[in-house]
Amino acid sequence: MKKRQNKWKLLFSNDIGIDLGTVNTLVYLGGRGIVLNEPSVVAINQKTGRVVAVGKEAKEMLGRTPAHLKAVCPLVSGVISDYEVSEEMLSYFLRQVKKISKRIRRPRVVVGVPSGITNVESRAVRDAARAAGAREVHIIEEPLAAAIGVELPVNDPVGNMVIDMGGGTTDLAVISLGGVVISRNVKIAGDKLNEDIISYVRNKFQILIGERTAEAVKIAAGSMLEEETSVEIPVRGRDLVSGLPREVMVTDEDIKKAVAPSLEKLLEAVKEILEETPPEILSDILKRGIVFVGGGALIRGLREAFEEELQIPIHTVSDPLSCVARGTGLVLENFSLYKDALIKDDDAFEPST
Ligand code: ADP
Ligand code: MG
Repeated sequence: MKKRQNKWKLLFSNDIGIDLGTVNTLVYLGGRGIVLNEPSVVAINQKTGRVVAVGKEAKEMLGRTPAHLKAVCPLVSGVISDYEVSEEMLSYFLRQVKKISKRIRRPRVVVGVPSGITNVESRAVRDAARAAGAREVHIIEEPLAAAIGVELPVNDPVGNMVIDMGGGTTDLAVISLGGVVISRNVKIAGDKLNEDIISYVRNKFQILIGERTAEAVKIAAGSMLEEETSVEIPVRGRDLVSGLPREVMVTDEDIKKAVAPSLEKLLEAVKEILEETPPEILSDILKRGIVFVGGGALIRGLREAFEEELQIPIHTVSDPLSCVARGTGLVLENFSLYKDALIKDDDAFEPST
């Protein structure tokens, strides 16, 4: 009987989980799953101050806008850097979701945020979601949401560890008994690797490439493995001396060299957090391994490289880009089970269960 009730409840669900990533925003609709996955980008007409495009359409404009248009990523390092634009972006995404499900009016929302954000930063997220039409806003740390999303036993008295390497930041978190025991937010993630590639190509070939080109090369040629045959990608950029376009060949070796210093720093941060982990939990992690999620987990061979450096099993998952969103959705669908995992809102009413 109870199961049946739950099914009805889900069918008429007014609940939405949001992974507000620096690069991608995903929305999970209760009872339905992930219904929206778009870049976290907004294009603004600077003359009128109006939003011209959001999501995919706005991303296409990045780096290509005429003088009066500006494409903005309102989240920097995972936190809201431009409040009004973030609110507009959230409103737009919520409108899209309302088109998918007419029942959604003023939804109850769970939003994932980077671990360790300040009260002021989480207040900005709450306010933006409310202004965008949410009735009730709850906030969860992203690595915890990711752990729930990949169905780790977060409520058990065992230590789990998650590395979530996104665009702006990599979240490292040790989790036990439904909460984050230790966490760290490192500003070395996909965007930094793109910057590394830009400066490497500038130094080696004396050409300037754009951010989107760098990202495309990273995805196409990036590999931490010892490849038997070298991967070569033609890359066009502007010659620093002549100012004219020029094409060069960038290899997987180039990418490896370009990103090595950043990855080294990231590994140092992981080691530091392991050093601070209480011994009982550390022994759980050594046995159970670390779960590696986020877009960074898609870099070929990075899992193996981390495993070798840390001498701890590293596991990747089938949906590294969507597990945070799925986790926020699972929190809503099993609210009483996970409500203690949410970040407390100091001036809130008691949340409904
Ligand atoms: P966020 O949560 O910050 O929005 P995501 O977890 O969605 O970030 O990951 C986005 C990052 O992952 C980007 O920097 C992107 O370049 C990188 N990425 C996505 N796919 C791949 C891939 N196949 N190989 C390497 N990097 C990737
Ligand atoms: Mg993320």
